[in-house]
Amino acid sequence: MCQEITKIKKRVEDYSPQITGTLSDLIAIPTVNPPGKAYQECAKYLCGRLKDWGFEHRLVTVPDDKYPRYSIIGAHGDGKGSLHFHGHYDVVPADSDGQFKPVLKDGSLYGRGSSDMKGGLAAMLFALLVLRDCGFGKYGYITFSLVPDEETGGSRGTRHLFEAGLVSRNIKGMLMPEPTSGAVWNANKGALTYRITIKGKPAHVALEHTGDNAFERMMRIARSLFELRKDVQRRKTSLPVEPPQANRSAMLIGGESGSGVNFNVVPDKAFFTVDRRLNPEESLDDARTELMEVFNEHTKKGVDLDVELLQEGESSTADPASPLALALTHSVRNITGEEPVFELCPGLCEIRFFNKRHIPAYAYGPGILEVSHGPEEFVRVRDLLDCTAIYALTALRFFG
Ligand SMILES: [Zn+2]
Repeated sequence: MCQEITKIKKRVEDYSPQITGTLSDLIAIPTVNPPGKAYQECAKYLCGRLKDWGFEHRLVTVPDDKYPRYSIIGAHGDGKGSLHFHGHYDVVPADSDGQFKPVLKDGSLYGRGSSDMKGGLAAMLFALLVLRDCGFGKYGYITFSLVPDEETGGSRGTRHLFEAGLVSRNIKGMLMPEPTSGAVWNANKGALTYRITIKGKPAHVALEHTGDNAFERMMRIARSLFELRKDVQRRKTSLPVEPPQANRSAMLIGGESGSGVNFNVVPDKAFFTVDRRLNPEESLDDARTELMEVFNEHTKKGVDLDVELLQEGESSTADPASPLALALTHSVRNITGEEPVFELCPGLCEIRFFNKRHIPAYAYGPGILEVSHGPEEFVRVRDLLDCTAIYALTALRFFG
């Protein structure tokens, strides 16, 4: 393996200007989600690169009047079972337009998406090239998917690919480059998010007794939820997570809220959100039932309310000692000299779509979670290159 490691490292260094160049190109395409801007431009760019490099691929379109969705699926090599590379090209909105002008400074590349996860995407694409240069296609098989919409739940990205039967059935393991800050995420928290709208009856403040205050009713429901939250917060995961305080199950009440039209009118409408985050030890069904019981209790008392589901995603876990996990661990050690820790991702993560189908899935990427989505998002070039080598080496090891 020593010879291969040296060869891979050398190829990655040769590709270094192209890797940072590709990342700069990607940052400059403002794939902002929501609403899903510049997806076509980005998909066209990625297809162009894949075509230039000679990798078999296909564009999948989900039509939409304003913002069509584009995913790219493809493969390199041949075989019965594949290692799957998966990544998203959408980014969260920027703090300024300047974030779409990539800047190389002190060994880091700054820009929206550099860390989450266009840097990781560039690393995965160049890992494919490095593998091809090493003659990998003759004995190993990599499938890949590049998707939009991850930042808003993935329904027209990854979920669509699975539901349309477009993801290979012979995937033996999946890797994705989320910004894991040096750790490997082999598990993720689930999410269940609702908007609750309460109806009342408007009245002039002078005739307050003739109205029905929706805000007051909302407060009563919120109070019941805060009671439930005490119980929810006592539940802790046994999996390691960073920061350690994130081990508790969570329920954010009132992330968004509002009511009424004016200070002197009894509000006829009030709304608030509940964002429930589940540890892998909890089930989505149980969490849903728990919340619905609270809403039903108030409906029975005559409260007119409407519950809208905003987001739903399952928690998931992959074996930290699977063949792919071990191949990844060894490769991280070989390239960085560090021993990676396996942690629970504190948020939703698309490894869940694969883990649910019994495909062991792991996130490991060059980015840093703390700077992702922030005004000073960056990725270190050294980490970018190391990750490129790690992905290539992991694939070599995985196919033995
Ligand atoms: Zn991401």
